[in-house]
This record gives sequence, structure tokens and C-alpha cells, in this order.
Amino acid sequence: MTPDRTPWGTELFGPVLPGAIDTRDAFIGGIVPFSTVDWPGQLAMVVFMAGCPWRCHYCHNPHLQTRVRPHMGNWRRFHALLHARRSLLDAVVFSGGEPLVEPALPQLIGQARDMGFKIGLHTAGIYPRQLTAMQNHIDWIGLDIKTTPQRYDALTGRRDSWVPVASSLARILDSGIDFECRTTWDPMWLPEAELVVLGETLANLGVRHYAVQRCRPAPDQPPTATLSQTAHDRLSACMTHFEVR
Ligand code: SF4
Repeated sequence: MTPDRTPWGTELFGPVLPGAIDTRDAFIGGIVPFSTVDWPGQLAMVVFMAGCPWRCHYCHNPHLQTRVRPHMGNWRRFHALLHARRSLLDAVVFSGGEPLVEPALPQLIGQARDMGFKIGLHTAGIYPRQLTAMQNHIDWIGLDIKTTPQRYDALTGRRDSWVPVASSLARILDSGIDFECRTTWDPMWLPEAELVVLGETLANLGVRHYAVQRCRPAPDQPPTATLSQTAHDRLSACMTHFEVR
């Protein structure tokens, strides 16, 4: 697959004719009306877009991997919540799945921005060109750095999957946009020593905010491993902000 295109081969962010994209067609797979953790420091509504070309072994949202048309209730709920939470929330975070697969994402972002919400984006970095096209409309990005470049394909189940991520990271660093990198860590797939080297490499590239998200077999189960104090100290030392979640 060409990384800068959707699985359907459609350019996402070319000129859009008035009425050409209807947000009622957006594949909204779910909504969390209130979150304090999806954009650190912000009260946010989280909108989960359906569709992702990757198949990460630890994915907790496999129901969001497929572009299955959702029922209209999610679109109606999105708009109802935008109005109802206008003075209560700081932001709307678009997550997934991979939100940049959604052709109506610019329109959804525009609707939320017009109502005064800040915009956050969770992305795995799969579509760097779409990311660049949207960056002036996004206030914060949470970029997944899933593992070391050498280990990417085994984890995502897709060939050359590190390539678009490296491009996305470079573009975000160039843009000056506020962002964090985060790694969901399972020592079965990434030894701790390599995790530390990965974090230090990111720091050398200019990343200042980094989070290690401990992998859990299921959302309600304890993490598979705990970061050692040595690893914690080394990652804390090279970042402006480091945390383990
Ligand atoms: S990129 Fe995210 S949504 Fe896609 S398979 Fe991986 S963990 Fe799941």
C-alpha cells in the first residue's frame, strides 16, 4: 500500500467542492463524551474514527480496524455533544482506528473548531501527507512510535510500516506543533534496553514529550510489565516531560 493514500486510493485532502463531502457519511465508530487522559491537561471529548490498515498485535480496538459504516446515531451524538459540552470541554480529540483515513475528517474538525474547541489528533503516523495538510487545524498530536524501526513490520503486520512514521515524525518536528510521542510497551515485543535507546533516539531528534504506555492484555487487566527505575531515570533525563501510563 502507498502510505500517503487511503486503502481506497482516494486523495483525502485535495480541493473539496461544496457539498462533496457530507459529515453524515463519516465512519464514527464511537465517542467518549468526557476524558481527562486522551490529551494530557485538557478536558476532551474523544471521537473514534473507524478504519485502520494496520493489524498491531496488541490492538485494543480491533472493532475499529474495519471501515464498517456506522449507524447515524454516532453522527447525531457527535453534534449533540458538541453543542451540549461547548462550555464544559476544552477540546475534541480525533482518535481511532486511524483517524486520517476518514475523508470527512477536515469537515468534522472544522465543525468542532467553529464551535471553539481545540483539536487533538491521535495518529499512528500512517499518512504523513494528510497529516501535513491538516496541521494548521490541529492544536496537539499524540503520535504513536510503536517500536524500533527494525521491529515495526512484525508488530504492525504491514511491510515498510516504519517509513511513513518516520516521515510523519519529521513533518511534526518541522511544523512546531505541540505533540507527544508515545510507545505502548510490551517487553515480549520490545526489550526494555531497546525501549530506552528508542526514547533516547527520539530525544536526539528533538522529541521533548514522551510517554510509555504499559501494554495490558485487556483494558481492565494489569500491565504485562513494569519499567525499571534505571530505564525510567534514563528516559526522564533525556525528555522535558516523561511519564509512564
Ligand atoms: S494502528 Fe492503532 S488502531 Fe491500527 S491496528 Fe495498530 S493499534 Fe489498532
